[in-house]
Formats: sequence, C-alpha cells, structure tokens
Amino acid sequence: MAKLILLPGKERSALRRHPWLFAGSVGRLEGRARPGDTVEVLADDGRSLGRAAYSPKSQIRARFWTFSPEETVDDAFFKRRVAAAVARRATLPELAGQEGLRLIHGESDGLPGIIADRYGDTAVLQLTSAGADKWRGALVTALVQATGCERVFERSDSDVRGLEGLEPTTGWLYGEAPKTLLAIAEHGVRLGIDIAGGHKTGFYLDQRENRLLLKGLAAGKEVLNCFCYTGGFSLQALAGGAANVLSIDSSGPALEQAQANLALNPQLPAARAEWLEADVFQALRDFRKVGRQFDLVVLDPPKFAPSAAHAERASRAYKDINLLGSRLLRPGGLLMTYSCSGGIGLELFQKIVAGAALDAGRDARIVRRLAGAADHPVGLNFPEGEYLKGVLVQVD
Ligand code: SAH
Repeated sequence: MAKLILLPGKERSALRRHPWLFAGSVGRLEGRARPGDTVEVLADDGRSLGRAAYSPKSQIRARFWTFSPEETVDDAFFKRRVAAAVARRATLPELAGQEGLRLIHGESDGLPGIIADRYGDTAVLQLTSAGADKWRGALVTALVQATGCERVFERSDSDVRGLEGLEPTTGWLYGEAPKTLLAIAEHGVRLGIDIAGGHKTGFYLDQRENRLLLKGLAAGKEVLNCFCYTGGFSLQALAGGAANVLSIDSSGPALEQAQANLALNPQLPAARAEWLEADVFQALRDFRKVGRQFDLVVLDPPKFAPSAAHAERASRAYKDINLLGSRLLRPGGLLMTYSCSGGIGLELFQKIVAGAALDAGRDARIVRRLAGAADHPVGLNFPEGEYLKGVLVQVD
C-alpha cells in the first residue's frame, strides 16, 4: 500500500477525525497509487493516522475510510460499515418501517462519497468519489445483504463526479428493472419515484419530517408551495386538510409526476390542488400585483450556493424569494422556508430571512427551526454535512 505523508502540522484535522484531506495538507506520496486506491496516511513524524482513498485529481486529495491504522479496507469492511448504517436507522422509531429511506449518508455514516436510498425493495446507489467508485461491487453485495433489497440501481450522474475525474454512470447493478414505476408511502400518501430520471436518486427524502410538520399545520389554510418538485409537500398539505394548495415548479416533468402522484391518492381532494409551471421569482411578483394572498407559504428552492464561493449571489436569491413570499402572507401567516446550500450556514440563512421580513415591512418571529430528517445525519466530525436548514416563521 502506498503511503501519503502529510506536511508538518497538517495531521490536526485527521486527529479530530475529519474525513477529508485537502491537497494543501499533503506532502508527498511514497509508492504508486491510482485514483481510488487505498493509501496509508502518515503524519510528518511517521505516525499512522489511518487509511484513505486517494484521489489525485480532486482538491479533496484523500478521504479517510478508517482512522484505525490496523483496519483493512476490503469487502468485509464495507459489509460492516453498510450493515452499521442500516442498523442505525432501524433503532430510530421515526425511521423504522419507512418505505423511502436514506440508508447511507456519505461521510456522516463513515462512507465518504457513498449515498444509498431505499424505495421499497429497490436500493439506489450514488457514488461521487474516486474511492467510492472502486468499491461498487462490494457495496452492492453489502446493501443487498443488509436490507434484503431485490434490486440495486446506480445513479452516479452527479456533477461532483467530474471533480474526481469520474464519468457519469447509471444503470442496474443487481436484479431486474421493475415492470411499473416505483412508489412509496410517506405519512399515508403514495408517491411515484422515478429513480432513473428524477432529481437526486429520485426524491427529496431529506424533507420527510418537514412534510409531516406541514401536514399538521395545513388545516383550513390556503397554501402556496413553491419549488414543489413532485408534490411531496403539496400532497401532505391536502392530506392535512388545506382549503387549497397552489404548487409551482419550473419543471414540466416534475409537475406531471406531481399530478400523477395526486391521482395515486384518491382519498385526497384533487379539486383543491392547482399546479403552475412557472419561475417562482416571476410568479410571486405576479401574485403581488393582483393582490393574491395565502396563509402558508413553503419555499424549498434548489441549491443556490453549491459552495461558499457562491454565497453572495445565492444570498440575494434567497432574500428575494423570502421577501416576495412574506409579502403574500395574510396577517398571522406562516412562512416555511429552507436553504439546502452547504455554502449558507444557519446563522446567515436566518439573517437573510430577517432582512427579507424587514424589507417586506412585516414583524416576524421564528416559531420552529427546521433541518433534514434523521436518516440524513450530520457527523459531529463533519460539520460540512449540515446542508439543509430552515425556519418556520410567523408574520404579523
Ligand atoms: N420541495 C420538494 C423539493 C424541491 S427541489 C420536495 O419536497 O420534494 C427544487 C425544485 O425547484 C425542483 O423541482 C426544480 O425543478 C425547481 N426549480 C428550480 N428553479 C426554479 C425556479 N426558478 N422556479 C420554479 N421552480 C424552480
């Protein structure tokens, strides 16, 4: 095994068990290693820090698999890690029995660059780092063993693969394609999931708990759901007894799936749902012009800031929609607003929302802080894992 030797003093983050080693920390490589190979990581004084996946093309030059110098990284290693991730979720009552569940959440589950989501009997695997890409076979075996899933689909087409010098790849890794579209139940609502063509692995599982919160808030309310994707929040609002739900997305296919999802749920009052294919920024301005108002506005936009470098421009976009959204609320109305940008921290996001309420001329207060669901944990050694944050704000 090749040895990756760090520059003096650069072992500090590894000693705190941070899983990433940046290019600037690395002194030299002794021996040969190809992208994704496991290397032993040593401090400048020769102390072994653990074993990591080497990625020469990436600024994240290596990702630790283990901080135990003696632990071998082999098929059995992945079997243990995958089984542990699956078992962790089974012990949390809110997750046990969910048909749609994130099984592996990358670094925070000790498996850098590896995402696995479960939709019923189908697991969807997403590999985003050179190291992860090497262990595809072992991961599939481990997933099938730990979950009993009948099939595994690979959805490794995220842009970040490019940073690791990897091509996009998708397709069935195990089992056969099901004959019909996959569907899951979430809080009693059925949702079709397009694992091959949908966003991420097909669905935004991270908002599961927040969709339940919305269900509990929606009774009798006029709800506006911005960036609705396939209608997850919209359908929960209807299930919670909303007076009506207007949902907006700029994606035609997402809205088609949203309406198909509504049709999967004959128990819901379809007549109370309205769908609008539009740019949210424009639509909210148009509503203001015609004086349209709502009791509850959900803002769950895409990632405006993929990294801290985009934070300033993204801040303006968040400010804009939060300003527009708060203006449309009736007195006492609720704004449920999120950011899934890693580059925008909770504190900054809160400031943006405060600035928006101020500019809208509305006194407002946070009644709840919101985050991703428990199957998207944030490793305490990996604060970068905290991407989804939100606030529920009540305006006067
Ligand atoms: N709330 C959804 C997930 C939202 S993902 C859920 O719970 O499932 C963000 C969505 O915003 C995507 O569906 C994308 O198509 C849409 N989108 C991106 N930019 C947009 C814009 N400017 N106007 C409207 N929709 C937009």
